[in-house]
Amino acid sequence: MSSHHDVIVVGVGSMGAAACLHLAKRGTKVLGIDNQSIPNSNSSYNGNTRVIRLTYQEHPDYVPLLKEAYRLWDEIEQETNTRLLHKTGVLYMGFPDGEAISGVKLASEKHGLPYSTLTHAELAQQFPQFTLPEAMVGALEPEGGYLLSERAVESYARAAQQHGATLLTNEPVLGWSHDTHGVTVQTTSGTHTAGKLILCAGAWSGSLLRLPNLELTVTRQILGWVRPAKATPFQRGKFPVWNIDPTGDGDLTGIYYGFPMSDDPGEGSGLKLACHHPGQPMPPDAITAETFPADEEEIRLPLRRYLPGALGPVEAIKVCKYTNSADGHFVIDRHPESDRVHFACGFSGHGFKFSSVMGQILSDLALEGQTNHPIDFLRLRRFNN
Ligand SMILES: Cc1cc2nc3c(=O)[nH]c(=O)nc-3n(C[C@H](O)[C@H](O)[C@H](O)COP(=O)(O)OP(=O)(O)OC[C@H]3O[C@@H](n4cnc5c(N)ncnc54)[C@H](O)[C@@H]3O)c2cc1C
Repeated sequence: MSSHHDVIVVGVGSMGAAACLHLAKRGTKVLGIDNQSIPNSNSSYNGNTRVIRLTYQEHPDYVPLLKEAYRLWDEIEQETNTRLLHKTGVLYMGFPDGEAISGVKLASEKHGLPYSTLTHAELAQQFPQFTLPEAMVGALEPEGGYLLSERAVESYARAAQQHGATLLTNEPVLGWSHDTHGVTVQTTSGTHTAGKLILCAGAWSGSLLRLPNLELTVTRQILGWVRPAKATPFQRGKFPVWNIDPTGDGDLTGIYYGFPMSDDPGEGSGLKLACHHPGQPMPPDAITAETFPADEEEIRLPLRRYLPGALGPVEAIKVCKYTNSADGHFVIDRHPESDRVHFACGFSGHGFKFSSVMGQILSDLALEGQTNHPIDFLRLRRFNN
């Protein structure tokens, strides 16, 4: 099989599906190629839901990107008539000068974002589901919530097809090349050519990008679902997205976070939670379905400590992959080999909420060679490539 297009997108996952729609809407003849189905359980967006929040204090330019991401989430919801975002608020808990609480305050004040603080007593009164050390306090970001990640990727892919994009699934890309006329992409069943190429292959980006100075570490991350004896206190409407920074509480590290329960089968069954910390490094192709007793303990520990009323049977454990850049920030740029090739990778466990705007940025870069969005802090040059 062979075909010619304006732009080829390799990897129709979180970033690639959104890029396909933005390109197709701009009248581009686009081919998206993924080595698996859409959605798929081996991607970095598996496990139904992802947190969205505005109060990023890691770099000031994340916030304008997020404001546009929120606008585009609203746009795709309306276009596909599909609910993808629930603004439940995000409740942050931790010690007053810990990273989570001080970070929310700092980002909210710097960018004029709404937030409120809660004393320990207010937390206990408003959110009695949590049992926290006396010195912990809270901050509530009302704009935060969660996205239905698998449904979102499916919605972007379907809308892209409706706007004329061709999507090939279960079609691994083996390699790519470029010359003065365009780019050539080799898959297991054929060769495809185009004027431009976008590479957004998630955990597999390292081998496809062939950039020796770009360090990408794929890590094994756990998601768990439990069944509390009494579900009502944990239902959406009564219970927000939550985030606990335990640093300073014994030897706990990482950030524990979770989601409210809902009756929507697209959100999975049970109360979902996870720990944001770098897991064990793994090859991207390692089988992800296998789980171990230590995985269940990673889920039960924060419940025993902070949410005892939710401690019930573990219904499901899933394994997912972070693709970590050396500094934890995304990497999005033109490929040094050719101005026909752009890429986005290294989303380091916090990229999904940005995928709506990343699709727009990637389509800007492919079609115009530049974007008005503030992505200079995410460029490759910081790694000397
Ligand atoms: C456990 C966990 C929790 C997370 N929580 C959050 C959160 O709460 N909020 C948040 O914003 N982010 C979160 N993230 C991060 C977010 O999900 C990722 O940053 C995002 O999904 C990465 O998108 P991507 O497009 O780079 O990769 P993917 O979405 O995985 O897409 C890559 C695609 O490329 C395809 N592909 C790979 N190689 C090839 C090839 N050779 N040929 C063809 N196709 C190929 C794959 O099949 C896949 O579909 C979390 C991630 C994990 C694992």
